[in-house]
Amino acid sequence: MKERSLVSLDSWSREDIEEVLNHARELKRRLAQGERFSFLAGKNVTLAFYEPSTRTRVSFEEAAQLGGARTHTVLAATSSVAKGESLVDTVRTLVAAGADALVLRHPAAGAPALVARHVPVPVINAGDGAHAHPTQALLDAFTLWERLGSLDGLTVTIIGDIRFSRVARSNITAFTRLGARVRVAGPPTLLPPGLEALGAEVRENLEEALRGTDVVYLLRIQKERSSAAYLPSLAEYSRFWGFNEERLALAGPKVLVLHPGPANIGVEVSAGVARSPQALFTTQVTNGVVVRLALLHLLLGGNDYASRS
Ligand code: ASP
Repeated sequence: MKERSLVSLDSWSREDIEEVLNHARELKRRLAQGERFSFLAGKNVTLAFYEPSTRTRVSFEEAAQLGGARTHTVLAATSSVAKGESLVDTVRTLVAAGADALVLRHPAAGAPALVARHVPVPVINAGDGAHAHPTQALLDAFTLWERLGSLDGLTVTIIGDIRFSRVARSNITAFTRLGARVRVAGPPTLLPPGLEALGAEVRENLEEALRGTDVVYLLRIQKERSSAAYLPSLAEYSRFWGFNEERLALAGPKVLVLHPGPANIGVEVSAGVARSPQALFTTQVTNGVVVRLALLHLLLGGNDYASRS
């Protein structure tokens, strides 16, 4: 990979993405055979999280530790951030204390790019405001690629709060780079301008959006980014856009359903769909670990698969 940090996938080519996917597949295979790694031995991977997280945080910690690294997690609410320390001062402190890589989640779009300019170590964006969530997109691409062999010619329909979703933006980039056609659909107030320029086709009608799609990718309404103000009510959103068994049947028996989590059952997805074998939510979480391990390996660990005996 050309770049030291991962802020967004904008500058990533198809080959860059495939490099991570191939690495992840190989690491997953070796882990399943009981192999343990040491390519991150002696490294310190520090997470600085300024927003809530379950999956991304645990997944990065697990990945770093599987590679043999030490990890530290700093949560803004319980750190000196609560005493008024600036972002740049905080991350410089973390590097001074030994961080060899920083994984940053922040409510402000652009925070990881700012940090990457001020620290001499790789910075990985674990979600910045409504801007980007590149490792989510990589793990989603991996999940489809592993299952279907390729994304070439696939139609993926992303449904929901496109306006405030960093996942939508990163996933449009990753999926289109890998040869998929991406549709976005949702209430008009949650479809911002400029989606076509990103390579997506816009649909304002759910039935039309579902026609002929291979994958349905559901998004949560980003209440923390004031999305609720763009909707009459969540109940109405659920009625018109919620993905339930009836709509799953309309999409067809082969359609795969993805969700980055956390899912709000009864809002964007019904309990029945979430439990159906077509929903890959758990596989996405499991794959997140190996994809992040592959990424840390590429950014920090050199090229060998040094194993722990
Ligand atoms: N976990 C994802 C994110 O952090 C999706 C979501 O929260 O809705 O963006």
